[in-house]
Amino acid sequence: MACGIIRSWKRLVKKGRADPDKPPTFKASAMRLQKELMRFRGDKIAVTTKPYSWIEVPLVISSYQRQFVEGWREGKLKVGEITLLNNRAIVTFRKEVEEKKPCGYASVDVNLMSLDILEAKDGLGYRKIDLKKLYSVRVHYFEKRRKIQALSKFKPKTSKMLMEKYSKREKRRVNDILHEITTSIVREFVKNGVTPILEKLKGLSYNATRNKYAKRRNRKVSFLPYRKIQDFIEYKMAWHGYKTHYVSAKNTSKTCPRCGRLSKTNGQVFKCEGCGFMADRHFVACINILRMWGIGFSPKALDELIEREGLSRNESNNSLYIPT
Ligand SMILES: [Zn+2]
Repeated sequence: MACGIIRSWKRLVKKGRADPDKPPTFKASAMRLQKELMRFRGDKIAVTTKPYSWIEVPLVISSYQRQFVEGWREGKLKVGEITLLNNRAIVTFRKEVEEKKPCGYASVDVNLMSLDILEAKDGLGYRKIDLKKLYSVRVHYFEKRRKIQALSKFKPKTSKMLMEKYSKREKRRVNDILHEITTSIVREFVKNGVTPILEKLKGLSYNATRNKYAKRRNRKVSFLPYRKIQDFIEYKMAWHGYKTHYVSAKNTSKTCPRCGRLSKTNGQVFKCEGCGFMADRHFVACINILRMWGIGFSPKALDELIEREGLSRNESNNSLYIPT
């Protein structure tokens, strides 16, 4: 089991999606055996203890989980790894899908307050999904954690218990929001037959480098789960047969989409020091992500989209940044 964890971590490091200086630690008491020794039987798991004898672990199955069990019974899904924990079992299901050929691409740029999508199919389509709800949940629980921390001196046990309780609650709430957002994005992509292009995130510096102005405040709130959003999108797209692609995140929000020159960003607005091009910086990042995947646009198409969506910026509305 430890080997498996190390192996998958090494794989992620190779892909640049895990921190090479932080090897995984595993603290939960859990059991995972090789496939032949642990069998999924729909309503129970049979664990072989010695030749020809086994113990059965009965499962409580909710309505959400039932669809997977039924898919398995019908032969549409295969059971992957099974892990037994103290109070629950984790059963992974696999589905084999034929890879679909996309009829377009969509870049997804994940930021602190918004998720920006630029879809290139027949024409260009841009939309912004508000992530403020997610951010405020993080802020809320950050404050809670800080109060509990203050308690730890006098009542360490209570503090630890509360911390666990609220951490779990926060994780649940964040995951709910993430599933809600990513499911609706993926539904739209699948409907349009487009496949997502995401930024390769490296290490932990992402938040700090991408949002200098919110850095101080947001360090406290810790990171927004950028990677999780990407992972959810990737696996939900894969479920429908679409492959997600990644491009390098370098300079995506600093490169002028019109003349290619690098400029410093200032707040929410990108302004090119060469040609004077101005637009919402997340929109600029979306364009550059698509560009890096090899999708070009005519300057005219770009201008039309900017005009249509009201994305042009000038000095006077430079203060678009949302204070928190
Ligand atoms: Zn320019």
